[in-house]
Amino acid sequence: MNFASELSLNTAFPICYNLLPHFASEGQEYTALKTCVTEALNDGRIHTFLLSDFLTHHQNFSSLQLAEDILASGGEPVVSLALTFNNRETAIDKLQGYYRAGVRHFLIVSGDYPARATNKPAKPVSEIDSVQLLMLLADFQEKEKIAKGCVVSPFKTFESEQIWQYEKLRRKISVGADFIITQLGYDVRKFDELIQFCVLHGITTPLVANIRITDMQTARLLQARGLPGVKMPGPLLHALHEEASDHQGAIRRTAQTLAVLKGLGYHGALIGNHSTDFSEVKQVLDKAEAFQPDWHGFLGELDFSGPESSFYYFQKDPQNGLNSREPSPLALKHFPSPIYSFSYFVDWLVYVPRGPLFKLTGRFCHFCSTRKFWYAFLWLLEYVSKGVLYGCNMCGDCTLYACGFLCYQTGCPKKLLNGPCGGSIEGYCEVFPEKKRCYWVKVYHNMKGVRQHVTFVAPPIPARDTALHRTSSWINFFLGKDHRKMKFEDS
Ligand code: SF4
Ligand code: SF4
Repeated sequence: MNFASELSLNTAFPICYNLLPHFASEGQEYTALKTCVTEALNDGRIHTFLLSDFLTHHQNFSSLQLAEDILASGGEPVVSLALTFNNRETAIDKLQGYYRAGVRHFLIVSGDYPARATNKPAKPVSEIDSVQLLMLLADFQEKEKIAKGCVVSPFKTFESEQIWQYEKLRRKISVGADFIITQLGYDVRKFDELIQFCVLHGITTPLVANIRITDMQTARLLQARGLPGVKMPGPLLHALHEEASDHQGAIRRTAQTLAVLKGLGYHGALIGNHSTDFSEVKQVLDKAEAFQPDWHGFLGELDFSGPESSFYYFQKDPQNGLNSREPSPLALKHFPSPIYSFSYFVDWLVYVPRGPLFKLTGRFCHFCSTRKFWYAFLWLLEYVSKGVLYGCNMCGDCTLYACGFLCYQTGCPKKLLNGPCGGSIEGYCEVFPEKKRCYWVKVYHNMKGVRQHVTFVAPPIPARDTALHRTSSWINFFLGKDHRKMKFEDS
């Protein structure tokens, strides 16, 4: 039985060992990784391994080779495919390559921004996002035989970050994600929140908790590297300081966390450590088995919840420090900004089929589409007006209406159109920490101008047609060439 089938059983609680080479194996030899895999397989409790497709500068082996060796040893690889490094062609090519080698599990992730993930100044690709790749995989010939995972972070500090994480999760599920892995985190109440969110919204897709054996050395490394989106809670850092070099403290805490997460209802776990030393993971598994019957008793010790100001989707349950079933009140809607109000009004006037200027504009756009001079005139008008208002770079397929009238092409470094990545920290963008707000946080604030409960206002947006670049999105819309495929009937 493979990882995905075990997850869906609900009783097996499979463990996946996190071998992500870009973090765990720096300075490690390939043989150390293979030894680790062999030891895990011999132990018998782990037969699934997560590895990254992304090749780092210190990696002297290919990820395909590692995947093949895991398969040859009788294990099951889960390959993490990062889209900051792949366009749609290379992503599917790679996926097919792994598929031919026997890999059946994939984790589709946005990926870290290249400049932060490597010392090489790689140019980001960011051509599609994880939702769009999942949509493209709906046509993948062997789709029935592969399991596609996605990632969500329940560990965000602000409402404007957290709500989008969950909204994007719903999108990923709606376009075919087969299992969900959390981002790395330490707040048990947040882990519980994700389960409660899934219950509330009828999501039955299996949930995998991502945990790491974290001692002081690992904490320092996480902080120094600034692993995108991962925040070490103050009380945990304090506990690590107290423990100093007592590594057993970290093992015990990880085992308690594992027991608690299983008790809470996670379907499986992804576990990693810094040294790729299986004996540490073995100790965690041994202790977690012993701790399991008393998991409720560890909730107090593992309370690393954020400050009062942190957003939690549900109100606190004072009995156990986790979540009640009662959603937390959301921030009140505020007065929309002038640009937002203006854009909203123009959008209704021109783009909504019942809008007063819809037909007239449609006719004019059709007229311009076949006349060089008039096309150039309209193109220039769009270029200047939208350039001034939104920083438009004329991608030809406008999504302003779906993103709070903010342009994702110029607002988000990864050009994410279907929701944020997991990299934001306290509302700031992963790429510009403490300097620039995450694009999607700004979208949230803009959309709060017209609604209290912010959600996506459009269905998942497919990968755009790159042939439309530098053409007029106004004309493309009325000609049915953009993602909306609108059929304009001039009657
Ligand atoms: S046309 Fe493209 S680049 Fe221009 S504002 Fe719309 S989404 Fe942004
Ligand atoms: S703007 Fe937000 S979604 Fe885009 S890269 Fe930055 S943190 Fe990620």
